[in-house]
Amino acid sequence: MSRAGGHIAVCPAGKVEPALLAAIAGGVSERFGIEAVVSMELSDLMFAHNKERNQYHSTAILEKLSETAPPSAVKVIAVTHVDLFIPILTYVHGEAQLGGRSCIISTFRLKGDERQEDYIERMKKEAVHELCHTFDLRHCKDPTCVMHFCRNAKEVDRRSDALCRYCFLMFEDKFRRLAAKEDLGLQTARRSLKDADDRPMEKVTPLRENLEEEDPMERNPGIVVDQGSKA
Ligand SMILES: [Zn+2]
Ligand SMILES: [Zn+2]
Repeated sequence: MSRAGGHIAVCPAGKVEPALLAAIAGGVSERFGIEAVVSMELSDLMFAHNKERNQYHSTAILEKLSETAPPSAVKVIAVTHVDLFIPILTYVHGEAQLGGRSCIISTFRLKGDERQEDYIERMKKEAVHELCHTFDLRHCKDPTCVMHFCRNAKEVDRRSDALCRYCFLMFEDKFRRLAAKEDLGLQTARRSLKDADDRPMEKVTPLRENLEEEDPMERNPGIVVDQGSKA
């Protein structure tokens, strides 16, 4: 399914229903104006599996994605149903390489007994959110902005799927730079993002979605950090 042009690769990590993958590809393609292609399945996740925790190490999956993604994939988003963790936290529902190429979203903590359409809409928003991190966007205080940090499904549902004016300006700037380097929209030979980017890939900062991800002390001095999600 690979093609020559720069695209966003939507990568099922483990078994994922085609309807969800197609919806995410459609959603991010519309939002970013780049073709999104469901490709490069990671069918075996045992390399990231932790036996004691019976969870999967999201950073390991991101590294694998960056290694194996074809250069024509300017961004890669993995979609998984498995429960993700990083060693210091109980779980994460998403992780992204800030300003890098890869990100991942997990449905495990975000799927309830809602209607299928609502769940798919929620995951589409999460996909846009994580991909924006790969465009170097950080969290936003505006609760309606898609870059607002959300702790659970309810909060994701309250959030819109669009960027606030400030984040949009930031995004435009980052996107323009990437587009200039990648000739996005032109069917020409690609350089890999690694070559095009000013920073080596290993220097990109992973950003995890979790209760602990934002520092509540910073926003509300005096409140106690919820330790519930610490390992
Ligand atoms: Zn914003
Ligand atoms: Zn985030």
